Amino acid sequence: MTAFWTEADFDDHEHVQLVRDRNSGLTAIIALHSTHLGPGAGGTRFWHYAEPKDAIRDALRLSRGMSYKNAMAGLPMGGGKAVILADKDRTKTPEMLAAFGDAVNALGGRYVTAEDVGISEADMVAVSKRTDYVSGLPVTGDDAAGGDPGPFTAMGIYHGIKAAVQHKLGKDTVKGVHIAIQGIGSVGGGVARLLAHDGAKLTLSDINEDRAKALASELGGEFAASDGIMSVSCDVFSPNALGAILDDEGIARLDTPIVAGGANNQLARQGHGQQLADRGILYAPDYVINAGGIISVAMEYLCKQHGEPCDINEVRKRIAQIPGRLEEIWQESASTGVSSDAVADRMAQKLIGRG
Ligand code: NAD
Repeated sequence: MTAFWTEADFDDHEHVQLVRDRNSGLTAIIALHSTHLGPGAGGTRFWHYAEPKDAIRDALRLSRGMSYKNAMAGLPMGGGKAVILADKDRTKTPEMLAAFGDAVNALGGRYVTAEDVGISEADMVAVSKRTDYVSGLPVTGDDAAGGDPGPFTAMGIYHGIKAAVQHKLGKDTVKGVHIAIQGIGSVGGGVARLLAHDGAKLTLSDINEDRAKALASELGGEFAASDGIMSVSCDVFSPNALGAILDDEGIARLDTPIVAGGANNQLARQGHGQQLADRGILYAPDYVINAGGIISVAMEYLCKQHGEPCDINEVRKRIAQIPGRLEEIWQESASTGVSSDAVADRMAQKLIGRG
């Protein structure tokens, strides 16, 4: 038997808990990486793992990622993540969600949960019946902050792409700038619409080809097949689907001066950030540029804790600070020769007291 704290992804996590509830059949892992800046915030993933150790790795890796993301977004929140181990049929019951809510509640606010892959707003509503340490709940009215984080993530990426275009290409508008987008779901679709509004030239791709073709036609862009999008000659490649796409082969295929998109964990390994830098490609570290959603989720939670209404303009203001953080990273990267992903990691580690 191998102890999980000997795993490469274990990074002095403060708390790693196995949650097992016989009655509902719930098996979950809650990992708190750091609560240095505040309660560990990060979503709950509902996923069928072929091997249980993959679930532990996911919880360890994703909770550390949340520590870095929240710190770099300037939020008074630490990093945490939960994974619920689904069976092959992904059976999810109200009893399981209730038991999970009880487990979150028992942590007394050290962990704050929200949606992640496989968990819907409705699931979070179910969890919220057992604990207050929940965010990402449905909101009503256009001026209310909170709810689905996707559009806020898209807004941050849009700002980040504009900053990258300014930094690398010296242009203060994306008008006529060619941007190739991989994945046009909640995040990528939102990014495409915002960029189209500014007159960017778009090439869109999704494994759901009909969806990509329809959006391309609506926005006046081009469609590319999903196996070709990474080699499109463009000004910005924006990955908004899968992680680990920037591996040796993926980087070799790129024909772009900029990579800036919302997918989590884009670099297959740490050294791939340096490979991008060696090719002269400006990289926007994923957890910095895609923080818009967690900014909204965290603000919703903090306002609720203080019993105050949450002003969407405050959320927008914080999301608009993402370019400044990126610029700081790129400047340090240029002056030190350290790749932008490594610069971001160092900054985040310092912020969580581990520098
Ligand atoms: P989504 O499920 O709404 O959209 C993902 C899209 O990618 C889908 O349309 C899917 O068909 C497409 N896709 C999947 N595999 C593909 C491939 N190989 N090539 C092209 N397209 C492919 O998910 P989302 O919420 O838009 O999230 C997208 C990415 O952004 C994920 O990596 C997610 O972890 C990350 N992210 C999302 C948020 C958020 O607020 N939703 C926040 C931070 C990071």
